[in-house]
Amino acid sequence: MEKLYFIVGSQDLYGEECLKQVAADAKEMVDFLNSKLGDVINIELLPTVENSEICVENMKKALCDEECVGVITWMHTFSPAKMWIKGLQILNKPLLHLHTQANERLPYDAIDMDFMNLNQAAHGDREYGFILARLGIPHEVVAGYYKHDNVIAGIRRFAEVSKAIGLSKHMRVATFGNNMRDVAVTDGNRLGCEIQYGWEIKYYGIGELAEIVDNLTDSEIDAKMDEYKSKYTMATDREDVVREQAAYEVALEKFLDKYGAKAYTDTFQNLYGLNQLPGIASQNLMDKGIGFGPEGDYKISAFSAVLMKMSENRDGATGFIEDYTYDLEPGKELELASHMLEVPPAFAANKPEIQVHPLDIGGKSDPARLVFDGVTGDGIQVTLIDMGDHFRIICADIELVNQPEAMPNLPVARIMYRHKPDFAIGTAAWCYAGGAHHSVVSTALNRDDIAMFARLTGTELICIGDDTTQADLQKFFM
Ligand code: MN
Repeated sequence: MEKLYFIVGSQDLYGEECLKQVAADAKEMVDFLNSKLGDVINIELLPTVENSEICVENMKKALCDEECVGVITWMHTFSPAKMWIKGLQILNKPLLHLHTQANERLPYDAIDMDFMNLNQAAHGDREYGFILARLGIPHEVVAGYYKHDNVIAGIRRFAEVSKAIGLSKHMRVATFGNNMRDVAVTDGNRLGCEIQYGWEIKYYGIGELAEIVDNLTDSEIDAKMDEYKSKYTMATDREDVVREQAAYEVALEKFLDKYGAKAYTDTFQNLYGLNQLPGIASQNLMDKGIGFGPEGDYKISAFSAVLMKMSENRDGATGFIEDYTYDLEPGKELELASHMLEVPPAFAANKPEIQVHPLDIGGKSDPARLVFDGVTGDGIQVTLIDMGDHFRIICADIELVNQPEAMPNLPVARIMYRHKPDFAIGTAAWCYAGGAHHSVVSTALNRDDIAMFARLTGTELICIGDDTTQADLQKFFM
């Protein structure tokens, strides 16, 4: 389990007794937070910062600990912020400034100057907030009594986003083949991705994967077929075609493991050595948190893995999707989103069927894929694009709905959703903002999660939802 370090600020001027109380209160706070957040994160208390040296030591520890994904700081007393400069300058992990107190209420009868000196987050946290602003360090502030539900929820969100950023910093995307020829939005600055998000985008020839496929044993493929049959309904008699996909998935698992990649891309323009485009193989891997991007889309591959990680402790579905086509009945406009094959089974409202159909593009053999109807509920659609000199995240609130009628001839899995505030403004805003046709849809995450990720990674964010108006549209085109 990942961890957050908890660092409390004070100073040595206060004397032994006061510092003892600070440490005791901090321990009580950390124990309480662990009891509430232990399902998501471990929180570990470090020595109280009394001077610059302790601060630097604490931050070095956070920096070097592979399990540590972020740091929580709180100023129990006043803690002169010049002591924090050198430590904060070496921290390169998500930072939460918890603006809280050990006590909920003021002890009106008993309060004296000792109490005031000991419990002065209102004072010390302002000094600390200033130095964070002065140094320009991206961070989050959660304010309130630490036992209150809204504060716990804020720290929980920080833990989940920090874990996602931790994965992001270790993300390696294996790209089989390159970006699909002529497609713009899926391309961009790979170096910029690595500098800003840590994503290593590494090219591999698909022949290397094909060679692994050719050398698999029957029992390896049998085991994967058993997995498919236990999870999905076999709705085809072309078992050999499904077996081919099972072999792709086993080979992909071996390949990703060998190169330490947690995400990959393929493109139907380069399947040299494979008979089919990976369908169920990619779908089943996405179900295990592996990022996938079609047509060489390394950004959505990495981003989807990061957002799946962010949502791993929540109910709801998160995964890659592509905008496809609309139902434009006035006032009831809906979007049908899907892909050629690769829709994550996380979106399945019913038990997915394994079906085999022609691909109708690319000239390869008929691929096996999972087909199902989509989940419903409030959600977001989010994408990340490369603007040349910066990255931009676009996050739109949507409502996933049941498809109004059956689609018996559609051979792919699909979801349907309603745009907010309405079709005209919601989709126009996405277009003005330059939003891609590849995105991540989630019923587990919300705008606040994405906003925190954007702030902590220094990414421009455009949000679309019920608060978006016609007048906002031109602002999104910058
Ligand atoms: Mn696509």
